Amino acid sequence: MGFFDKIKNSLKTKEKNNNEIKDYTIGLSKTREGFVSKLVNLTNKYSRVNEDFFNELEEILIMADIGVNTVMSFMDRLRKRVIEDKIDDPKMLKEVIVDELFIIYVSGDIIVNKINYQNEGPTIILFVGVNGVGKTTTIGKIATQEINKGKKVLMVGADTFRAGAVEQLKNWAELTGSDFVGDENLKDPASVVYNGLEKAVNESYDIVLIDTAGRLQNKVNLMNELEKINRVINSYIPNAPHETLLVLDATTGQNGISQAKQFKEVTNITGIVLTKLDGTAKGGIVLAIKEEVGIPVKFVGFGEKANDLKIFDIENYIYGLFKDMV
Ligand code: GDP
Ligand code: MG
Repeated sequence: MGFFDKIKNSLKTKEKNNNEIKDYTIGLSKTREGFVSKLVNLTNKYSRVNEDFFNELEEILIMADIGVNTVMSFMDRLRKRVIEDKIDDPKMLKEVIVDELFIIYVSGDIIVNKINYQNEGPTIILFVGVNGVGKTTTIGKIATQEINKGKKVLMVGADTFRAGAVEQLKNWAELTGSDFVGDENLKDPASVVYNGLEKAVNESYDIVLIDTAGRLQNKVNLMNELEKINRVINSYIPNAPHETLLVLDATTGQNGISQAKQFKEVTNITGIVLTKLDGTAKGGIVLAIKEEVGIPVKFVGFGEKANDLKIFDIENYIYGLFKDMV
């Protein structure tokens, strides 16, 4: 039995009353309709697995933003499986394709999708990423989850660069019942962070969510700014930040991958939040992130509302993508 069968067996029976799986199947519908339906058409079009079939398959995968390197190694493995298992019928290959895509994700290191929560003192989470990817919205969504768990949440508005950014975060604080530290007039993000940490420690907050500006246009600036913020955090709470989450917009495809590579060079990223999966057929990017960036995806965004963020779950994800295919 292949991976997909195992996932299907363990999830399918739950689908009717499992909102979590439903969120993934709805959130990934654009990717499913785009890329997966092309795969199905391809396997229907060819009666035998041949070189033309492989070429078309390769093109479909590249179009789905899975990433060229990922696609190449995937194609190698697939060709091997075809020879080893003596597969001739493209329809028989559908399941192998899903299996091999799943193997790309689970192979190698352990998949860490959990937040590094602290038992003692506040858990400090820093959000980085370029303008417009969804940092502030993601903070609102994560606050919602933590408040629902009964946690005391503090938001820190250290995106002092963009006009209105502090106000936007403040609105999310009000909406979610979180507290807020930030000052429209304070232009130095490190000072805002300092004020935030002081409050967090003195008033025993559980979770501190720090919003930053993502000025990738100037790498040296960005590096200096993040270094400064990290120094302030670290001098107040050793070993913090406990998470530095890079937010990426899935609709930007390969551009997101190159953002990840650049941020990785300037600071220690512990996880990725992949937003706007609901608005794109580029859901395959999760696989490219795994192979080309090597940082775990910890959350996925399926919409603009407070409840539209999910902890990344590879089984739900694979099921959401391929449920109609095999
Ligand atoms: P920031 O500049 O990184 O802080 O980005 P914002 O949080 O301000 O988000 C930019 C836009 O993206 C806003 O209009 C959000 O509502 C929207 N957005 C964020 N996450 C998602 C998502 O998962 N799905 C969709 N469809 N829109 C999102
Ligand atoms: Mg923002």
